Amino acid sequence: MIPITKPVMDQREADAAGRVILSGWVTQGPEVAAFEREFALYVGSHHACAVSSCTTALHLALLAVGVRPGDEVITVSHSYIATANAVRYCDATPVFVDIEPESFNIDPSLLEAAITPRTRAVLCVHQMGMPCNLAAILAVARPRGLPVVEDAACAIGSELLWDGQWERIGKPHADIACFSFHPRKVMSTGDGGMLTTDNAEWDQHFRLLRQHAMSIPDTVRHGAAQVIFEEYPKVGFNYRMTDIQAAVGREQLKKLQEIVKARRDLAQRYTELLGNLPGLGFPQEPIWARSNWQSYCVRLPKGVDQRAVMQHLLDAGVASRRGIMCTHREPAYADLPCCFPLPHSEAAQEGCIILPLYVQMTAEDQELVALSLARACQKAMIMT
Ligand SMILES: *Cc1c(COP(=O)(O)O)cnc(C)c1O
Repeated sequence: MIPITKPVMDQREADAAGRVILSGWVTQGPEVAAFEREFALYVGSHHACAVSSCTTALHLALLAVGVRPGDEVITVSHSYIATANAVRYCDATPVFVDIEPESFNIDPSLLEAAITPRTRAVLCVHQMGMPCNLAAILAVARPRGLPVVEDAACAIGSELLWDGQWERIGKPHADIACFSFHPRKVMSTGDGGMLTTDNAEWDQHFRLLRQHAMSIPDTVRHGAAQVIFEEYPKVGFNYRMTDIQAAVGREQLKKLQEIVKARRDLAQRYTELLGNLPGLGFPQEPIWARSNWQSYCVRLPKGVDQRAVMQHLLDAGVASRRGIMCTHREPAYADLPCCFPLPHSEAAQEGCIILPLYVQMTAEDQELVALSLARACQKAMIMT
């Protein structure tokens, strides 16, 4: 069976976790601090703050930029539901705009029309690791004083051509970028997240809120020669990352460059292998973007049934996933006020599939996927 993904972990991650477990300090301590420093260095940001997931990172980011109850946040429906959920945790309303069909990312030309007096922020997504068009988004948001948060859950190691230089997602190019370390992403700590920003005040805000707004962290009290009492000036959260996760993350970070390179090679090989498949649409990299290929998503030929193709693939021992979900179609969002038409988002969900892509994949594995997909498309076409 060829799975959709596999984390790249070995004895080094196991040893790192074991070392922390035996150290006597297992949550939000020295390993988290070291992971944050190394992560900031990797993406090129001034600050990095580790948290329990990208979902919690998004929540803290939106609070930091001032999203309050009743506000609107412009984002995409075409994303994992966590994107929109983070807006709702702030008792704010997500306003969904459509995507560009080629990049699966927010269409910046639709931003302007979605702005109202209640708009407080833009939450854009680098979907499946492909950078969204931040330059175009900022050109609309900056003149209106709208902060822009990047949902970079999938985009660690992806790059953007910025002022003539390739820079990593997370620098950040907007205001705050949020990453995920779930096993479905390119590097993993089991679960976990990271916020990067150049704004020291926001970084302080994340650090307070991730630990119930505790005024003096336990790490400081632990090392103090005098008794210190902490206080809790506001209601915060438990969004901590453990030191066990951070130690694993530090090992993953060492491998990241190799992981991204391997994924890029695999994506290119797919494009070569699938090139002859009539009517198949390939993911496109704009000239100003380099994906980490967190997911390789193809558009099925017209008239080919998505579910049938996926079943034929499964029967052939190849896992696949349907295109990215549309949040506005989920029951949890049925009560949302009427939104803009989202034809490209809906078409991507219904007409695309994600193919297996992981570092351990062999050339034979990829050939099998390509062959199975060609056969599956043929069968699914005949049956419809
Ligand atoms: C995975 C994902 C998230 C959520 O990340 P978690 O770490 O699981 O909370 C948010 N946004 C996008 C686009 C994702 O793909």
